[in-house]
Amino acid sequence: MEQIDWNNIGFGYIKTDYNIRCSYSNGSWGELEASTSEHITLHMAATCLHYGQEAFEGLKAFRGKDGKIRIFRIDENAKRLQSTCDGIMMAKLPLDLFEAAVLKAVKMNEHFVPPYESGASLYIRPFLFGTSAQVGVKAATEYQFMVFVTPVGAYFKGGFQTTPFVIMREFDRSAPLGTGIYKVGGNYAASLVAGNKAHEMGYSNVFYLDAKEKKYIDECGAANFFGIKNNTYVTPESSSILPSITNKSLMVLAVDMGMQVEQRPVLVEELSTFDEAGACGTAAVISPIQRIDDIDENKSYIFSPDGKPGEICEKLYKKLQAIQYGDEPDTHGWVTVLD
Ligand SMILES: *Cc1c(COP(=O)(O)O)cnc(C)c1O
Repeated sequence: MEQIDWNNIGFGYIKTDYNIRCSYSNGSWGELEASTSEHITLHMAATCLHYGQEAFEGLKAFRGKDGKIRIFRIDENAKRLQSTCDGIMMAKLPLDLFEAAVLKAVKMNEHFVPPYESGASLYIRPFLFGTSAQVGVKAATEYQFMVFVTPVGAYFKGGFQTTPFVIMREFDRSAPLGTGIYKVGGNYAASLVAGNKAHEMGYSNVFYLDAKEKKYIDECGAANFFGIKNNTYVTPESSSILPSITNKSLMVLAVDMGMQVEQRPVLVEELSTFDEAGACGTAAVISPIQRIDDIDENKSYIFSPDGKPGEICEKLYKKLQAIQYGDEPDTHGWVTVLD
């Protein structure tokens, strides 16, 4: 293994030693297998290539001060993958098989889990796709599940920072009765043009409104939204939002901190009432929002005039990270410590 400069890795792909694989055929899942190959052999008529039968998950492993490796909420990712499989008619992976595959992938690549001091972590990418050859549009009869891991750098290089988002009504990420609630690659393909346009305009990402009425808040790029006001954590409820495990965890921590939590439809106009706002997901935990420009309405919602993250965003961020790295007790049973 080449020496990795843990303090200077980004969010890219770094080759590790092994990936874990498991295939489904004749109505059942096989054994977990470890592979050293970074490649797969796929039939050219596989349903994942033509009809988008592909799902993925994302979670992280962290090395603590004690040198131990901790994985955050594996069970939640396992359940969400099952829900996604139901959503696009793929064979459902048993929860225990998901957990075993993730643990095996981390264990077999143990020396790729960055040291505590670097603030880096090991990103875990489980994914599942249809492999049987078919030309007609229907669900595959054969599937492949895989897990690879890759070290990723600390998200905030220059410290915890705010970024701007932009509302663009010309794009939707997902439809109210569509696949937005599932973690499928197709949703990401559907967001690339909008995301690229936002980046070109200097924004960190698109701030999506509900596709049907353009009245309610949906998601911030591929992250959930939350706003803070009157000691309350407010996050949108909608049938096109991907249920973020980070958001789910932050809601619990907010209650622990004595705050109220509201999960309900949130009107765009309500943005003007929040003292702080953030985007949340596994990659950053919290990415505090500096401002949201509504370019169609020629309006800006500013949360952080000086660019500094709000106090509550910072407190929630630090708390969740402390649990992930094992700096604070895991009172909710969220962490699996590798032995
Ligand atoms: C993965 C994802 C999130 C974040 O979910 P986490 O479980 O917190 O990582 C939010 N929105 C979308 C669209 C996603 O795909």
